[in-house]
Amino acid sequence: MENTCPVCGKALNWKNGVYECQSCDKTFIKQGFCLACDAQVERLQACGATSYFCHSCNELKSRSSVKTVFEEQKTVS
Ligand SMILES: [Zn+2]
Ligand SMILES: [Zn+2]
Repeated sequence: MENTCPVCGKALNWKNGVYECQSCDKTFIKQGFCLACDAQVERLQACGATSYFCHSCNELKSRSSVKTVFEEQKTVS
């Protein structure tokens, strides 16, 4: 899956745990949401494979059962 800026559509750079858009000068974090119930899912990294856990459905979700959204990370000053 390609990581593109939700604002300008350009490619995002992965940097220090966040996605950075150089054109917009914004940083984004990737959030997963359950397609079944729309709750935010927890990302689990195991054995090189990424899976997700929905606390609302109380079950593991595959990548195809989850939609990923880039949310702008507000800079705290
Ligand atoms: Zn951008
Ligand atoms: Zn769910």
